[in-house]
Amino acid sequence: MRGRPGLVLAALAAVFLAAIPTTSGTAGAEPGNSEAAAPTAVVEVADDWNPPAHLRQPLQEVWDHVEATYPDLHGFRNYGWDQVMANGGYLNFCVRWDSSRPVSEELRDRIHETLRRQYRKWTDVMLDNGQGHNAWPYTEVPVTVVGWAVRDRDTLRWDDDSVDIYVNDIREGAPQCAEECGRFFNQDGDYSRCPGGTARHYDQSLWLTEGMSGGAGGDWGQRMGSEYFVDSLDAENVTILLHEIGHTFGLDDFYDWTPTGVSEFIMRAGSSPHITEFDGWMLRDFWRNVKHRYGL
Ligand SMILES: [Zn+2]
Repeated sequence: MRGRPGLVLAALAAVFLAAIPTTSGTAGAEPGNSEAAAPTAVVEVADDWNPPAHLRQPLQEVWDHVEATYPDLHGFRNYGWDQVMANGGYLNFCVRWDSSRPVSEELRDRIHETLRRQYRKWTDVMLDNGQGHNAWPYTEVPVTVVGWAVRDRDTLRWDDDSVDIYVNDIREGAPQCAEECGRFFNQDGDYSRCPGGTARHYDQSLWLTEGMSGGAGGDWGQRMGSEYFVDSLDAENVTILLHEIGHTFGLDDFYDWTPTGVSEFIMRAGSSPHITEFDGWMLRDFWRNVKHRYGL
């Protein structure tokens, strides 16, 4: 895909800054005096970390860069990881249909299926021979669209009630599903004000905007052109979506530097149409570095 997802890092950083109150500062109380009479056992956290040798250096460079540049890397509590863990292994979505194009029941279902299929390309990275990699607890992460947001109900050409429909609830100039039901707005996980409760809450939005090129991604979801998405329904890789999902799980952009020895991977916009081995190990490395917050 040609369009470089331009807004992405800015959008992600903005979300990080906006969404986080100020919860950092776990002052590391280092063990004080060690009276070295008895041998001290070195306690290591169980960690299954075995990337291919040629990727070790670039992975370390990436993580060092993340630690040096993210404003609240370890205080931020709304990565895709946090969402999956809070739910116990699934993700719910709202589709923000920021377009006047009518949506048939068939198109709706194809959009759902494409989102699921693409999302799975990332979540499958967390498996080793069908088991969770490095204590990842889920062998699959079901993705369900629970709501659609539109300006005009007539745009949606179906009558069934399989998804909740939100009409003309406008934020950021685009339709959104009810804030009472959104994870972004209720990071304490309290969905008691959502009419459908926890079962109909949404963690992320698939925000499809008519006439947009490029994309944006963050803890709130993924945004790209509605025409691009619809035109990509049969594609093996919906490249912009895949790139933006990477951001949802904390992965960075690579606009101004390249890790040693690797230059083609989906998080380096424009260099790969699909998730590469290096992308996969970056995802696994992010998990390795945040899993302790879940006691793993
Ligand atoms: Zn990006």
